[in-house]
Order: sequence, then C-alpha cells, then structure tokens
Amino acid sequence: MSLLRTNSGPPSAQVLVGGELLPSKYVPVHNPARIDELVGHCALGTPEMVERAVETAKVAAPTWRDLGFHRRAAMLRSALPRLRETLAERANLLTREQGKVLWESVADARGPELVIEYFAGLIDGGYGREERWDESGRVVIRRVPRGVTAIIVPWNYPIYLACQHLIPALITGNTVVVKPSELVPLSLSRTLAVLADALPDGVVNVVPGEGPIVGRALTRSADVRNVLFTGSVPVGQEILRAGADLVRTSSLELGGNDPALLLEDASLDDATMNEMVRGVFTCTGQICFSIKRIYVPRSRANEFLAAFTAAADAIVVGDGLDERSTMGPLNNARQLERVQGLLAEARGAGASVQAVGSRLDPDGWERGHFMLPHVVSDIADDNPLVQTEQFGPVVPIVTYDSLEEGVAMANDTEYGLAASVWTADPDAGLQVGELLETGSIFVNSHRLGSSDMSMPFGGTKRSGIGRTHTAAILDECTEPQALAFKKDLSAFPGPALAEQAR
Ligand code: NAD
Repeated sequence: MSLLRTNSGPPSAQVLVGGELLPSKYVPVHNPARIDELVGHCALGTPEMVERAVETAKVAAPTWRDLGFHRRAAMLRSALPRLRETLAERANLLTREQGKVLWESVADARGPELVIEYFAGLIDGGYGREERWDESGRVVIRRVPRGVTAIIVPWNYPIYLACQHLIPALITGNTVVVKPSELVPLSLSRTLAVLADALPDGVVNVVPGEGPIVGRALTRSADVRNVLFTGSVPVGQEILRAGADLVRTSSLELGGNDPALLLEDASLDDATMNEMVRGVFTCTGQICFSIKRIYVPRSRANEFLAAFTAAADAIVVGDGLDERSTMGPLNNARQLERVQGLLAEARGAGASVQAVGSRLDPDGWERGHFMLPHVVSDIADDNPLVQTEQFGPVVPIVTYDSLEEGVAMANDTEYGLAASVWTADPDAGLQVGELLETGSIFVNSHRLGSSDMSMPFGGTKRSGIGRTHTAAILDECTEPQALAFKKDLSAFPGPALAEQAR
C-alpha cells in the first residue's frame, strides 16, 4: 500500500506498523511562531502498539537481512527521487512545527538523501565481509545485523538525526521501530513514509507518542536488540539501565556544553565574528553542538565583547518562513522558560546581560515562543548558565588569564561533545585542540558543515557512547561473525603445550 497519499486537512504523524496505519488518539502540534496555529496532529502510541511494531519488525527481519548489503543499498537509493521531490514540502512543514528558519529546515530535510548516498557508497566500497583463504584454511568475517533496532529522536534536528541512525541500521540489515519526538513529529513522519514506501512492509515501523510511554516501552522490550538514541542525558541513562538487564548495546548521542576557546592572536574581523555568531545562534541555539560558552583572554575581553555583540545585533528574530528572519522562535514553552530561568539566575548573580538583535514582528511577539539573543559577560565559570546545557539563544563569555587556565575551564564540564579553537594560526589551533576533551574539535568554525560524514561524530564523558558517521556507525549496527575452516591447527597442539611450562 502506498503511504504517500495526501489527505486533505492538516498532516498527521501516524502509527505505521507493517505498512498499515493504525487508528489511534491524537494530540495537536502547534506552530512555535504562532502557538494558536494548528500545524497537524501527533498520534499517541501505546505500549500495545509498540509490542505490535516490534513483533512486526522481528518477523520482517530475516528476509531483509538475507537480501544482502547491495540489494538493500539499491532499495534505499530508489527512495532518492521521491525524497528530492518532497524536499520543499517537508522543509516547510518542519519550519512550521519546529520554528527554525527555512534554510535550516532544508539542511535538516535533505539529510536522508546525503546519508543514503554516503552509506551506499561505503557498501559499494565493500563494507561487511572480509575473507582470507590460504594454506592454513579459510576464514570469513562478516558483519551481521543486531536485529530489531529502536531509533529514538529529539525535536531539534529530527529528520537528519533520525536518518543518521536509520539509514546505517537499514543498510546493514536491521529492521527498525522509530519513535519521533512528540513535539516535532510531522516532517519526520512524512520522510519515514517516503522511505517505508520504497522498502518491504515491516522493515520501517513508526510509533509516535510520549517518551515515558512509547520510548520506555520500546527500550524495555526484550526483542529490541539495539537502541540508537539521540536526546538528553537522563533518558540516555535510563536506556543504559534497561540495556544492562537485557544485555543489550545502545549508541547514545546525548547533550553538549561546547566551549569556543579564543586565543590571543584570533581575528575579530566581521567574517570571523559572523562565523562565531552562527556557531552560537543557529537553530536558536538548540543544537547539541552549538557553541554554548565562549572563553576569551582577559587582555582582549572588551574588544571581543564589542565585536561579537555587534555581529549578533544583526540577527532578526521572527517566523522562520519569513525570508527576513535570521532566527526563529524556540521550539516549546518549557525550553523558553528554562532558558529565561538560567538568564535570570545569571543576572541575579551579578552578570551583565545584553539583549541584541531585533524583532521582526513586535506585535506578534507574544503569540510565539520568541526570545531575543542574549550575550552575557562578567560571569563566573561556575554559574549554572556556563555549567549546564542552556539549549537556547543565550551565550556566556568568560575570561581567562593564561592558555592553561582557558583549556582547564573549557574541559571542566561533564560534557564532551565538541569544541572549537579560534586563532590566526590554524596549525596552532589544531595543537591546542588536542588538549580539549571532546569528540570533535574545529578550528575557526563550529557549526553544521564543520563535521561531515567522513568524520566520526559523538561525545566523550556524559555526551554519549559510540559514534555516528563513517563506518563506525555501521559497526555499531552490526556484530562481527567469524566463520572458519582451519586446515592447520598446529599452533595449538593441546597437551604438547605443557612442554613450554616444564
Ligand atoms: P529528550 O531526551 O527529552 O527526548 C528525546 C527523545 O526521547 C524524544 O523522542 C522523547 O520522547 C524520548 N523519551 C523521553 N523520555 C523517554 C524515556 N523515558 N524512554 C525512552 N524515550 C524517551 O531530549 P529532547 O528534549 O528531545 O532533545 C534535547 C536534548 O537532546 C538535548 O540535551 C540535546 O543536546 C540532545 N541532542 C543531542 C544530539 C547529539 O547528536 N549528541 C543531537 C540533538 C540533540
């Protein structure tokens, strides 16, 4: 059955099991730029639906596994034309449900295309099977799928983040159950429908709904043999605990509190400041690897504050679909309150707080989850705004007196996702980068594009376990299986080995 029929009326994120859309209860999804505007509906999946989806994925698994890498890659590639045709529609829908400006939604919505092309290329290059055949015998090492895989997705970059796990899981022969975020489920569900339509029924199943109900049921299911999770640290910890009982792996892409470390010689020209502003405020600061703290040498603190604030002042906050907006609203009321709370706490502790940028539509401001960007200075390194992941358009600037102190402050966090070094000497920047305890380090940039699929991506410390991108994620979706026919076992002669101890 084609899942691509367009019904009249607002779109829905539906429960998809074995190619069938299941009837369920729904909750409304509103536009964060105009919270009285209904964008669509999200199904509220139940534990019973999760059970049915997992069972369906389990039944579909052997046939999908036995197709082999190349046929699976070809089937995924067959979805590319439809993904391209629907790009504009999916990106517009994403801005309406998530809030971010349209170019950011396009960057997110074209994710599956890029991910399919990259990983199908790795398959063309021969991933998945090694063979040795010599006088000692024959050894085959092949990568076999782990089995039914749960993919749990957050609300900030839903399409790309889902697909960077989904496509590697599928191409290596796993069947999946995807749980979109209940806050931003629509454009991802539409994308998943395109993919599911190109594959046999039961290979891609989708159960939207609430995390503590659908997500928890999924991660506690004994038939789920791998969990690929992107989201917060507490939920990641819960998934690890459930995995311990089931002796099951998970790959966790968790939060970040990324530092940008400005060195004495860094340029403060417009291009550099615009790049840094982009690193902080893209997606309204709601990216796991946004710059979340800036460390500046005391000798350059005033100069930096003036240059950075001037660059950030060009930001125009408004509806993400309006071409004049350069920053959209926050996605939800809870996030807005949390960020405003951290800002108030910093102000209460004596920090200097400066609102920058402008409001595109001052009259409609209260109708959305809007907030101006804020630059915070004169703040201590142990302030909660510096130490926790704010996930919003607010950045603290902290001064340091020596490079050693700057590096120590940058590393003094429980997170370790990414970091950046800003300097006129890129080689020195890479050297300083080696002192930072994060999974990725960038020099003179810190944004989408600073990492790519040829670079492993993931966190140290509480930022996660495992890596996406590269063949590393294909390895996380599979287990090596060794098959051997050994003609020559003379290296292990048995009882004769005792001679070596006499
Ligand atoms: P979240 O952990 O609250 O939710 C993520 C997903 O988990 C959602 O689909 C949610 O419904 C589900 N969930 C919630 N409770 C669950 C439970 N008990 N069991 C199973 N699933 C459950 O995170 P969020 O608020 O959606 O996203 C923001 C967080 O995600 C931030 O911390 C951000 O840094 C992080 N993030 C990390 C990366 C990365 O690549 N490292 C990327 C994007 C976002």
